Amino acid sequence: MTSTALLPGSTSARGQQLTLGVMGGGQLGRMFVHAAQAMGYFTAVLDPDPASPAGRVSHYHIQTAYDDEQGLAQLMQRCDAITTEFENVPAPALLTLGAHRPVAPAASCVAVAQDRVKEKALFVDVAQAHPDQAVFPAPYAAITTPELLAAVPADLLPGILKTARLGYDGKGQVRVRNRDELAAAWDTLGRVPCVLEKMLPLVAECSVIVARGADGACVNFPVQRNLHRDGILAVTEVYEQNMAPALSEKAIAATKFIATHLNYVGVLCVEFFVVDDGSAHGALVVNEMAPRPHNSGHYTQNACTVSQFELQVRAMAGLPLVQPRLHSAAIMLNILGNLWFAADGSQRSPAWDAVLALPGTHLHLYGKLDARHGRKMGHLNITAATPEGARATALQACALLGLPPF
Ligand code: ATP
Ligand code: MG
Repeated sequence: MTSTALLPGSTSARGQQLTLGVMGGGQLGRMFVHAAQAMGYFTAVLDPDPASPAGRVSHYHIQTAYDDEQGLAQLMQRCDAITTEFENVPAPALLTLGAHRPVAPAASCVAVAQDRVKEKALFVDVAQAHPDQAVFPAPYAAITTPELLAAVPADLLPGILKTARLGYDGKGQVRVRNRDELAAAWDTLGRVPCVLEKMLPLVAECSVIVARGADGACVNFPVQRNLHRDGILAVTEVYEQNMAPALSEKAIAATKFIATHLNYVGVLCVEFFVVDDGSAHGALVVNEMAPRPHNSGHYTQNACTVSQFELQVRAMAGLPLVQPRLHSAAIMLNILGNLWFAADGSQRSPAWDAVLALPGTHLHLYGKLDARHGRKMGHLNITAATPEGARATALQACALLGLPPF
C-alpha cells in the first residue's frame, strides 16, 4: 500500500527525521509539540520569544518574527508539514510556507478567522446553504467608515463593538448602549474596522471542535459547555447531556458544515451562544471560530481516547482521523496568573499538592515563569466516572485554589 502520510518515526526524502513545524510558541504550540513528540516526530517552532512555552520544549526553535523571510525559509527547510497555533500569524507568511510545504490549515482558512467581517459573512453563507439546520451569527453590522457608523440600525443597540482583527479574551471589545456610546467607543478603538453585534440574552455558551483530513474525513469531539469570566474562558464542562441533545446535534452539524465549506484541513473550533428565545432550550447562535485547537478542548487530553492535539498532528501528517470517544465526565478549570497572588498582593504558589491529592485531577502548566493577572498559566483537567463526581472534585479544587465556585 502506498501512502502519502508522514509516517511517525520515519525519515524524510531529504534524509532527516520527519519534522512537524508550528507557527507560534504559546501554550497551544507547546501541547502540539508534546503530542507530536509522543508519536516520534521531531518538532520545530517559529516564535520570536526565546522563552516561549513551545520553543522551550521543541527540537528546533527558530527565533524570528512571523514574517521574517529567513525564519520562514529555515522553518521550511526543517519541516515536512507545518501548522499554526494562533490565528494572528500573518496570512501571507502561511501562503509563502504553503507554496513549498503542506500547511494545515491553509492560509485562506486562517485569513477568514482573522477577520470578524469575513468570518460572519462565511457563517451567513453556510447557514443559508443549510436552511434545515441553519445557525446564524448575532445580528451585526460592519463599521469601517463614519457613514456606516451613522447608518447602524437602531435594533443593534445595545450592542458590543468588536475590532474586526486581533481581538482575543474579550480584548478589543466595548459594550455600548446608544449611538453616542457607539461613536465614542469607535474613537477609543482607533476607528479601525469593527463589527457591531447586537447584545443577546445568553443562557449558555458552548463550543465544538472538529478535525478534518485532506480526504474530507471529519470527526468531532462532544459539545463543550463553557463559562467565561471577565471575557476569558474559566470553566469547560463535558459529559452526556451537558446540553439539550437537539442543540448539541445542531452545533456539531453546523461546525462540520463550516469545515466542509472551507475545505478545511486540521483542527477547527467554533464557539456558539445559546440565546433565550422563549423556547425550552434556547436557540443557537454562532459566535466565532478558531483555526486551531482551543482552550475549551484541553479536557480532551485526559477525558478522550484521542486529544485535540493528537488530531492536529494526525490531520497535518495525513494519518487517519478516528472519532474520539469521551471516556470520562470532564471539567477543565483555567489557571490564570491571579492564583499566584495572595489577597494582600504578595506572591505565593498555588496549593498543587493539596489539589493533586484529589482523585482524577490532571495538572497542565505551560512553563511560563512570570505570573501576571489574567495570564493563562495552565489548566486543571478533572475526570470522573460521573458528572456529579467531576463537579464535586472541581468544587473542592476551586476551594483549595481560591477560585470562585460555578
Ligand atoms: P476569545 O478569547 O474567545 O477569542 P474574543 O475576545 O474573541 O474571545 P468573543 O468570543 O467575541 O471575544 O466575546 C467574548 C465573550 O463576550 C463571549 O464569550 C460572550 O460571553 C460575550 N459576548 C460576545 N458577544 C456577545 C453578544 N453579541 N451578546 C452577548 N454576549 C456576548
Ligand atoms: Mg470567543
